[in-house]
Amino acid sequence: MRIVIKIGTSTLAHPTGHLNIRRVEEICKIISDIKNAGHQVILVSSGAIGMGVGKLGLRSRPTDIPTKQAAASVGQCELMYTYDMLFANYNHTVAQLLITGDDVENDTRHQNFCNTLNRLLELDALPILNENDTVATNEIVIGDNDTLAAIVAQSVNADLLILLSDIDGLYSADPHTDPNATLIHQVSELNDEIYALAGVSSSNQGTGGMVTKLHAAKICMDCGCTMVIANGSHPAYLYDILDGKPVGTVFSEGACV
Ligand code: GLU
Repeated sequence: MRIVIKIGTSTLAHPTGHLNIRRVEEICKIISDIKNAGHQVILVSSGAIGMGVGKLGLRSRPTDIPTKQAAASVGQCELMYTYDMLFANYNHTVAQLLITGDDVENDTRHQNFCNTLNRLLELDALPILNENDTVATNEIVIGDNDTLAAIVAQSVNADLLILLSDIDGLYSADPHTDPNATLIHQVSELNDEIYALAGVSSSNQGTGGMVTKLHAAKICMDCGCTMVIANGSHPAYLYDILDGKPVGTVFSEGACV
C-alpha cells in the first residue's frame, strides 16, 4: 500500500513546544517497521512552528507572519534533524520536501514535485513534507497540513491517508463539553449532517481542526483514497489501522481499509 501519514504538532510536541521524545521515537520506529513490511510511506509533518517556538523560548505560538516564519525556519531544522537521526536507527533515509500553494496550483511545478516524490519512493527513501512556512505568505499559503496531506495523497494516488491528531476522530458532539458525545467510526458520505459536526475545534499548538480534516476527507474521497483520523498519542494505532481494526474515524465510500 502507498500510505500518507500526517503528524500534527500536538502529537509531536509537548504543550511547552519542546519535542515529545518518547512519542516521536515510537512513531519513527513503527513507521520504519511499516516500511520494512513493504509499504510505501510518505510523511507530512507539522511541528516546525511549534518547535521553533520552543527553541526560541517564545511564550506562545506567534500570530504575526514574520515571527511565524522565523519560528518555522528554526523549528524545521530541529524537526528534520530529529527525523534523520531516529529513522537512521532503522536504516531509513529521509528526504525533505517543502512546498507552498504555488507548487500545487502551477501545473509544471506540481508535476515536478510529483516526479520527485515518485522517484524518492522508487529509491526507497522516506519523503517528509511540510509547507514551506518561511516563504508562504497569505497569497500562496496552503495553510494547514491536513489539506497538504490530502493533496499529496491525491497527487501520488495513495491508497490511504492517516491523520494523527490529538483527537480520537469525528464525534457526534463536542466531547469536551458533551458527555454523551460518541465517536463516529465510519463515514461513507460527506453530507451536511457530517459537516455540521465539524465545529471549530482546534488545539492551541497546531493549525487545523475538524473543519480542515473534513476538507481533507473530501479531497481523498473524491479520488478513492481512504482517510482515517486517529489519536496520535497511541502510535501503535498505525498497526491496527493497517490490520483493518476499528480505530478512529474512517472516511471511505466502500468498506474499511
Ligand atoms: N506547517 C506548520 C508547521 O510546521 C503546521 C501547519 C499545520 O499544523 O497544519 O508548524
